[in-house]
Amino acid sequence: MRAVVMHTPGDVRVENRDDPTIIDQTDAIIRLTATCICGSDLWPYRGVEPVDHTNMGHEYVGVVEQIGTDVKTIKVGDFVVGSFVISDNSCEICQAGYPSKCVHAEFVSMTIGTQSELARIPYADGTLVATPGQPDADLIPSLLAASDVLGTGWFAAVAAEAGPGKVVAVVGDGAVGLMGVLAAKQLGAERIIVMSRHADRQTLAREFGATDIVEERGADGVARIKELTDGLGAHSVIEAVGTEESMLQAIRSTRGGGHVGFVGVAHEGLSLPLDELFFAEVHLLGGPAPVRRFLPDLIQRIWNREIDPGKVFDLTLPLEDAAEGYKAMDERRAIKVLLTI
Ligand SMILES: [Zn+2]
Repeated sequence: MRAVVMHTPGDVRVENRDDPTIIDQTDAIIRLTATCICGSDLWPYRGVEPVDHTNMGHEYVGVVEQIGTDVKTIKVGDFVVGSFVISDNSCEICQAGYPSKCVHAEFVSMTIGTQSELARIPYADGTLVATPGQPDADLIPSLLAASDVLGTGWFAAVAAEAGPGKVVAVVGDGAVGLMGVLAAKQLGAERIIVMSRHADRQTLAREFGATDIVEERGADGVARIKELTDGLGAHSVIEAVGTEESMLQAIRSTRGGGHVGFVGVAHEGLSLPLDELFFAEVHLLGGPAPVRRFLPDLIQRIWNREIDPGKVFDLTLPLEDAAEGYKAMDERRAIKVLLTI
């Protein structure tokens, strides 16, 4: 099969790799219909995370081609969406709503890599969710978004307790931040403030439900959010960048007793002042999103055409042109790149 391999930072190639086969009887092999490039794939691309002939990709939709003998709920021929973290969906942690911390959790990006024609998905019954039927072609980008960015933005909004009567602020206007806007709107937020300096992203944010845009950053950004909230700060803040600056921006923009949902991928060596965390008196919940918890609901909303998260893809390329896709995202010429297979 053809698959994306990142040899060294910045060196993305599409190569032949062995077709995956069933290893454990709980596995499924899927033939991908579409995959995409994630903002987090840019960390190894830029040399911030180690990379060495790594199989890339962790977002996927496709058709089940083969299943192990222990797979019960997923059938050959099903169109499926899966999370970027493998989960059994049955252990205590999964049952409590945190499949991304499942006792069998495994990151798809680390070992499997779904920027490829085929992929082996462990714990198929727990990880994959079948759609109600074969989707129309125009639904595929949205279903693919559910695999990570939409699910992650949704978790951030839930963690921030976005809902009726709440003012939500979103730090970060990348794909996840924009999905956080969509989620906050769906969850009934009264007002949604997005911190963004890019005209194209501001337009998309408004389409997804943003009511206010703040272009200032740092202390000026916090002051602007306070101004918009009677000096109190937002009830709910979504952090979708993953740096010290963005996390402090989020915490400082939150009112006392408010909630921060943080889903920007953090890296080694970052630190936050504990005294400031102490006196901020806000709720913090973040991490790799438990996307599997939200998938059945998100798939249904997409199927019913209530939401159109696929609009976040502003560049579509064939898998063979993956290197150009990485370049476009790295240079911020594209928000998010869909790869067709
Ligand atoms: Zn589990």
